[in-house]
Amino acid sequence: MANKKNKGSLQAEYPNLYDGISADDLDACMSFAEDYKAFLDISKTEREFVKNSIEAAEDLGFKSIDKIKKLKAGDKVYASIKDKGLILAVIGSQPTSEGINILGAHIDSPRLDLKPNPIYEENETAYFKTHYYGGIKKYQWTTIPLAIHGVVFSKDGKAHEIVIGEKDDDPVFYITDLLPHLGSEQMAKKASEFIPGEHLNVVIGGIPVKGKEKEPYKEAVLKFLNDNYGIVEKDFVAGEIEIVPAMKARDVGFDRAYIAAYGHDDKVCAYPALMSLLAQERPSKTCVTILTDKEEIGSYANSGAQSVLYENFLMELLALTGDGSFDMLKFRKMIAASKMLSTDVSNAFDPKYSSVSDSRNSAYMSHGIKLEKYVGARGKSGTNEATGDFVAEIVGIFDKNSIPWQTGELGKIDAGGGGTISAYMAKMGMNVIDAGVPVWSMHAPYELISKIDLYYTYLAYKAFIENI
Ligand code: MN
Ligand code: MN
Repeated sequence: MANKKNKGSLQAEYPNLYDGISADDLDACMSFAEDYKAFLDISKTEREFVKNSIEAAEDLGFKSIDKIKKLKAGDKVYASIKDKGLILAVIGSQPTSEGINILGAHIDSPRLDLKPNPIYEENETAYFKTHYYGGIKKYQWTTIPLAIHGVVFSKDGKAHEIVIGEKDDDPVFYITDLLPHLGSEQMAKKASEFIPGEHLNVVIGGIPVKGKEKEPYKEAVLKFLNDNYGIVEKDFVAGEIEIVPAMKARDVGFDRAYIAAYGHDDKVCAYPALMSLLAQERPSKTCVTILTDKEEIGSYANSGAQSVLYENFLMELLALTGDGSFDMLKFRKMIAASKMLSTDVSNAFDPKYSSVSDSRNSAYMSHGIKLEKYVGARGKSGTNEATGDFVAEIVGIFDKNSIPWQTGELGKIDAGGGGTISAYMAKMGMNVIDAGVPVWSMHAPYELISKIDLYYTYLAYKAFIENI
């Protein structure tokens, strides 16, 4: 299905991909969506995504690179990046030094993290204090069911994993908002101000311990946590507890065209980037998928895309596919010859909010993977801009493999903007372009994507790593 049909005219067309789809393609699309939803529901945090990805990879014969002395064509290896990022490779028959094909997504999503001293009580209710992570509209996080996911490390180094709010009979957690009857002053405020960050406090308990404790409601929560997870209040300082929406991924529409879920950004690209790598057996070029953390706050930390730990793995790939020695110049040349899709989501044109988008330079829901030559803000600030010849090469691969694609910018020029990991990867020297699934309500607790975009994005990623 080629989308740039010229039909005797010189003008480009970017059709809706559900329009005229064959029954077989629709079946394949619906079935890929089922697998994605199942994976997403058990992978809401970066740690969970890494754990489940490693499990899937090991089932297919992937091994941790730590245990490897030499790599040959067909070998499958991975490295966990602090358990919050992951990098995986399938070794190709061509020398790695001639360049590798890379897909790179991020697996962190906007959420509420617990503060280091999170538990308090007020007016006979126990609460968690949170600090939001990434760009959110704070008011969207009130009055929805919330789940707790994460890990607390005690001084003995033991990890205490906590997941509450996902099973049907689990309790959920909740942030209150003001009733409209008394909300007139609140409603007159700007949306960025009417729910301050310090109001994102989560209700976690309301039955006190018996006795004479100073704070019996807080004490009851601490007792529950100690009985069930063996932790005490001070352990939270070494905690990584994330508050995420408790909702599961659900089909949307009478025809089930869409999926609503928490964390499509960027797991709706990370999942097909992982799956297209796992589908490789004997590629000609070495294929790599990178799943990074901390993108939503600038790709910092040792698990973010700016960390050298991802680079270390690529250095090991070069050394272990050769004679085991490492040569920096050879490495730099390998990276310069490498090609990457930065597989991150972008906005889809929303007719209700058409004023923020240039309709002639916008991606549309169900029109396929969105190729973005550049992202950034204002005068293209902060962007990786892909070179024209690299864009042409990608378009050539997609067209040759009948992969429909579209293009567009993230909104009007002065309406805002955003970044991805592409700039950091380009800095290493490789050719990079952003290409991902268009999203409605991006960064909301429950985002919307089209199943047909997910499916053709998977085919696009596969075509890229197999053919470029
Ligand atoms: Mn993203
Ligand atoms: Mn984002």
